[in-house]
Parts: sequence; structure tokens; C-alpha cells
Amino acid sequence: MIKLDGISISAGIASGELYVLSAAFEEPKNEPAESTEAEKTRVDGAIETAKEQLGELYEKAHATAGEETAAIFEVQAMMLEDDDLLDYIHDMITQKSARAEYAVYEAGIHFSSVFAVMDDSYMKERAVDISDLATRLINILRGRSDETLSQLKNPVIVAAEDIMPSQTIQMDKSRVLAFVLKKGSMTSHAAILARSLGIPAVASLGDGFDKLESGSFAIADGSAGCVVVEPTDDVKAEYDAKTVKLSAEKHRLQALKGTQAKTKDGNVISLYANIGHPDEVPNILVNDAEGIGLFRSEFLYLDNEDFPSEETQFEAYKSVLCGMGGRRVVIRTLDLGADKQAPYFNLEHEENPALGYRAIRICLDRTDIFVTQLRALLRSSVYGKLAVMFPMIVGAEEVKAIYKIIDKVKADLKSEGRAFSDEIEFGIMIETPASVIVADKLAELVDFFSVGTNDLTQYTYAADRLNQNVSYLFDSGGQAIIRMIKRAADEIHKKNKWIGICGESAADVSLLPYYLAMGIDELSMSAGSILQVKDAVLGLSSAECVEKLKRFLD
Ligand code: PEP
Ligand code: MG
Repeated sequence: MIKLDGISISAGIASGELYVLSAAFEEPKNEPAESTEAEKTRVDGAIETAKEQLGELYEKAHATAGEETAAIFEVQAMMLEDDDLLDYIHDMITQKSARAEYAVYEAGIHFSSVFAVMDDSYMKERAVDISDLATRLINILRGRSDETLSQLKNPVIVAAEDIMPSQTIQMDKSRVLAFVLKKGSMTSHAAILARSLGIPAVASLGDGFDKLESGSFAIADGSAGCVVVEPTDDVKAEYDAKTVKLSAEKHRLQALKGTQAKTKDGNVISLYANIGHPDEVPNILVNDAEGIGLFRSEFLYLDNEDFPSEETQFEAYKSVLCGMGGRRVVIRTLDLGADKQAPYFNLEHEENPALGYRAIRICLDRTDIFVTQLRALLRSSVYGKLAVMFPMIVGAEEVKAIYKIIDKVKADLKSEGRAFSDEIEFGIMIETPASVIVADKLAELVDFFSVGTNDLTQYTYAADRLNQNVSYLFDSGGQAIIRMIKRAADEIHKKNKWIGICGESAADVSLLPYYLAMGIDELSMSAGSILQVKDAVLGLSSAECVEKLKRFLD
């Protein structure tokens, strides 16, 4: 049995087979080979297995994605016949006594850099194929599986360094029992996804992660933040008992469905859900969401090879609004950049991407992209109660610029005879300290606000939300953040506008008394947390919350 400790990023317990997702092209240790003959045999075996895998991938891609995509695998299989490549690998083993993994790694680096500097753009792109091939061979040599997240055959616990937004989109979510991650944090995309799917997840397992192997039986304890591999019978029995307890608690919470989230002394707060894809609507309704407080529209862009058309976007927004049957739906406009990248945007590499060209900054610069989204949003507004929210706002000038564009979009739609509602609410995210400082000015311009505590925390403490080395500074319950939120809420309420919270800390019941004391109007969270938060609201009194906040801020 191995037990690895990490941090809890999504509660719950799951057990099942581990599936270790291939890491990126990483450098293996350069240890001397014990027998060069044995290493040569290993590498030749891996090449044969890779050819078989590529053949299967070719067939699958041909049937599902067409000849052009399938050809990628054919080209890669042909590269495995190339004498220069094979000689290079064998020479590394015989002349430098390298182990098979390291020989393949070195060959990958060598040939991909040869291709990368070629003038012909087709040949240049083959550098990526070489890296892909080397990764495949190294994974085979290490006994790691080749399946991608879209091809999972059985329900598994997915183990990965971290999971990128593009991977979460490809993933067959119904087959993922849990995530266990080497890196990651409470606000990483894998964490957000895990909570919205209601599956357990553990992050920050560190170097111990490297001991995990596909096929082993494991228990992912998302509540305690640990992973147990090949548990003893006693440990397994202990976990079986915990699972029974958890499901009894789940059952108890079901009884709260349909009741209002109201404190003992009558203070009501709305509990909404965050979603990242239209197909999550049935699940959030089952979990008692009163509305959608954050629909991250990025999926439309991350899921596509090219800019999504107005029609594609319109259909997606319309389906969410119709599905929510008149409940409020807050759709956030494009928030790309930093850790969310779509290649066809061709964004330049930046030294400080979180402080760079992202979200509303892209939209106000590349207005064609923004106009397409706004047209789709406005057209969808006749199908429900739409609120449109803008991310990363730092000041009133941006809001004024947005309104200018919206006015033009409205005029165009009118002249085309296309309908839109005149009751759309427009709001902004509070996720920069600047927006807190000028909240009074912003409140004169918009209908509502929602605090993105993930970014507000990162920018307040100058601590990258994805950087483990500074995660000790990233405290969404710290005094600085609570003061920030209170200051924004006070200014916003003075202007009779409403304010919600849609960052991950909206579901943190330890912070709930503070939010209630400030009069936060709405909390938006992963669907799986709603009943738990409701349960906590029912047990609190506002008067006590006010006292608690006062003590905390003193
Ligand atoms: C936030 O920053 O808190 C937020 C909700 O937005 P995202 O996590 O998508 O950046
Ligand atoms: Mg944000």
C-alpha cells in the first residue's frame, strides 16, 4: 500500500483503477544502461507497440474525423521506419550506454530541432510529430497507457500532472471517477471541473505522484486530500464505512431541495450555479440552483479549431436560457488569455500573461470577435432572463467603451429586424483590486457585480493562482480579501445594485458568515456544493454573522 498526501480540491471518495495520463515531453533521468543489448531490445519492442497504436489511431481517426486528421498518424508511423532516427537511438544506446528512455528523449530533441528550423512550413510542423512520437515511445517504455481522455474505455481515476482546459473538453466525463494531480490547486481548471461534476479530486501530490501506475487499484479521498494505492483490507474497509457515511449525508441534504436559503433571523441569499458548458444545465437544476451566476463562455472558443460563429454561439446561449426556464442566467463574455489559450487566436507569448492581454482587453481590441459574441448574446435574450457580465474590468472607461459597442450592435440588430430583450442586465466581475477601489463609479454604470475571488485573490496578494510555490499566500479568506469584498459590497449597495460572488470561495462555508454579514445577494458555485451551503445558511443568524465579521476585521 502507498499513501500520498496532497490537498483536497473537490470533496468525496472514489475508488477504482488508476489511469496515469501521459505527461508532456519530459526529460528522463540519464542513468547508464546495465545491458546495451537489453535496452536495444526494449526500444525495438516499444517501436513495434507504437506502430500498432498508431495503426489503431489511424483507423479510429479515419472513421470519426476524416482522412486529413488520420494522416497525422500515418506520417508518424512512417517516421518510425526512418533509418536516421533508428540509428540515432541505437547509437545513443551502444556508444553512450544510454537507457532506452533517455536515448529516445535525446533523439526526439535532436530531430525535432532539425525539423523546427526548416524553411518549408510543412516540414517545420513535423517537429511536433517527432516530439509526440518520442513521448509515445517513452510512455510505452515506462508502461504508461496511450489512451487519451476522449477514449477512456472504463471508469477510472485520472492521474495527471495537471489537467488543461483543452483536455477537460476532450474528456469523456462519464468515465472519470476522480482526479489525482501532481500539481494543481483549488482554483485550477481541473478543480473547478471536478467540483462541477461532483467528483472527488486531490491536487499537489508532488514527487510521490511519480510512483503511480496505470492499472493499480486506488482510493481517491477528495475530502481528506490523499490517495491510497493498493490499500490493505483494513484500510479498504475503513473507506467503505466512510463512503456509506458520506452517502447518508448526501441523502440528508436532499431534503433541503426547494427550500429557501434563509438564516434563522430571516436573511435570504440566492444560491446559483457556475457552469462551463450548456450540457450542465440538467445537473444544476437537480442540485437546486436558483439561477446561473457564471456561465464561462470560454468552452465555445476552447472547443473549436476556429472562431465560433454567431450562429453556434446563439444556439448555445439559447439552449441554456431555455433550459433554465426564466431563472436568471449570467453569461460572462470571453475570458481567454493567461492559462486559457486557443491556438487560432495567435496570442503572443507574454512574460506575465496574467497581467497581460486577456479577457476584456482582447475583446476591446479585436472588436470583431466581441461583436460576434454580443450579437449572439443579444439575440438569445428573448429566450429567458439574460444577464451579461464582463471580466477583468479595471475602470469606468472600459465599461463606457463596451456600451458604445453594445449600442452599435443593438442598432444593427434593429435595422436587420432581429429581436432582443430590453431587460438584459449588464454587470461586471470584481476581480481586480482596481475595480474594488472604483466600485462606486462602476456602480453608476452597471446593474450588478460578481466577485471573482480566484483572480481577486491572485491580484491582491500578487500570488499566481496556479503557482504552488506561492500557494501559501493565496488565501481567499484572508483579511485583505474580506475587506476588499466588504468595501465593494458597501459601495455597490449604496447605489442599490446587487453583488454576488462566483469565485471558488463562494462555496466555502467558513466564509459564509462574512458574506451574509456584508449582505452579499447571491453566491454562485459548483452545483454539488449548493445544498451544503444552504444547510449552513439555515444554521446561521445574521446578527451573529455581523459580530463575527466585526471581530475578524478589527
Ligand atoms: C474568478 O476569477 O474568481 C472567476 C470566477 O473567474 P475564472 O476562475 O474563470 O478566472
Ligand atoms: Mg477570473
